[in-house]
Amino acid sequence: MPFCARRCDYCAFYVYEKAASGLRREYLTRLESELKVKSEYCDPLATIYIGGGTPTYFSTRELREMLTMVTENFQFEAGYEFTVESNPDCLTPAKLTALIDGGVNRISTGIQSFSQGVLDAIGRPGKIERAYEAVDAIRASGIGNFNCDLIFGVPGQTISDWENDLKEISQLAPPHISAYSLMIEENTKLAESGTVEGDDELLSEMWNLAGEYLENHCGLRRYEISNYAKTGFECRHNQRIWMGNRFIGAGPSACYFDGVSRWTNPTTLASWLKNTPAVEDAVSSEQRAVEILITGLRTVDGWERFDFERVTGFDYSDIRGETICELTEAGLLVQDVNSLRLSNQGLLLADFIARELL
Ligand code: SF4
Repeated sequence: MPFCARRCDYCAFYVYEKAASGLRREYLTRLESELKVKSEYCDPLATIYIGGGTPTYFSTRELREMLTMVTENFQFEAGYEFTVESNPDCLTPAKLTALIDGGVNRISTGIQSFSQGVLDAIGRPGKIERAYEAVDAIRASGIGNFNCDLIFGVPGQTISDWENDLKEISQLAPPHISAYSLMIEENTKLAESGTVEGDDELLSEMWNLAGEYLENHCGLRRYEISNYAKTGFECRHNQRIWMGNRFIGAGPSACYFDGVSRWTNPTTLASWLKNTPAVEDAVSSEQRAVEILITGLRTVDGWERFDFERVTGFDYSDIRGETICELTEAGLLVQDVNSLRLSNQGLLLADFIARELL
């Protein structure tokens, strides 16, 4: 959902700040009709993910209404995973109760940093104390499966600032952490102010430190470039998307994928509210397979040859064998006869590898 209290300076998502209740009402009405249509051709859901934006920006009543739309229109598989993203600033006990009543069993919360200087540098509103309070409230609610987002590579952030963030998060001991390096994207306040991304050497040092620290102090294993989890707490929703599974999406700029073609909803709230149809990405089945190859390689375990062929209908050696050999010789990919994954160095250079494979 595309609503937040205030746009962070690094945010390139499609987000409405401080939406009035009338606009939120229009959004919910349109969302309900989209979900009803999509539920008609949908199998029981293995995972559900409500992200944004900040879903917990909604009032408790609106949250309950949105969750009811999901539970009344869709069937869930046994053992489903249902995640809602939240912001510590607006994750109240009443909203947590509403989430649990609505079937949510996983929360993701955007802490980003325990340093006020870092939060200020990226224009992220909120007080650090709220991060501790939010995690306490999640635990007290009985939801044991939750994620905390952290960010590194912020201008002015030193390695010791980052180590302090890792130390603080390890004391909160979440079973899942997403730690992303700051990207300065076009049309963000940071880009407009001329801020530049951190240098590669420092970013690589911070990424390596995250891997070592979270494994040694929290028992979390890196399972994707930016994601760390205790065994059994990996985000199944993201794993399914990285590995080329079908998914549906609803809301402005949401994508959906039926296993062959992918569509994107109109990107602005105004055009989505007017029922403007989704647009199909015009790519060949081979190009789609390459995209799935790349997203799956973001995982530390990478691909089993058999799984890739089952999902895409292609053998990766047939469609990108030459590039795979070159990247393997360069030490960026590791392959044997049945599997393919990024090396440790390759994980750091995943964007370069993606460009080579495309
Ligand atoms: S809370 Fe998240 S979605 Fe909202 S403005 Fe900040 S970064 Fe963007």
